[in-house]
Amino acid sequence: MKWIVLVVILLLVLLLVYKFTLKMKDKVETNKVINMSLQRRKKSQSINKQTCSYCRKKEKKLSFYADEQGRVVGVCKVCQPQAERRALRRL
Ligand SMILES: [Zn+2]
Repeated sequence: MKWIVLVVILLLVLLLVYKFTLKMKDKVETNKVINMSLQRRKKSQSINKQTCSYCRKKEKKLSFYADEQGRVVGVCKVCQPQAERRALRRL
């Protein structure tokens, strides 16, 4: 009868190890999913929001002007008068 107990214990241990590895795998998978969704969010943020060339604030909508050197600058609403004062051409 002794070996039956041993086998049962062995089976239990195996089951525990199996469950544990499954859990670990799950954790890794969820981490991956979280990372991916975070990256996606970051990416869409950088697409939707652009940095103002003057105040470096992130704005959803920027007005684009060409400056004296012909470079394109994007300015937010706050800095728009500033850009117009510099007589930049609105694009
Ligand atoms: Zn600005």
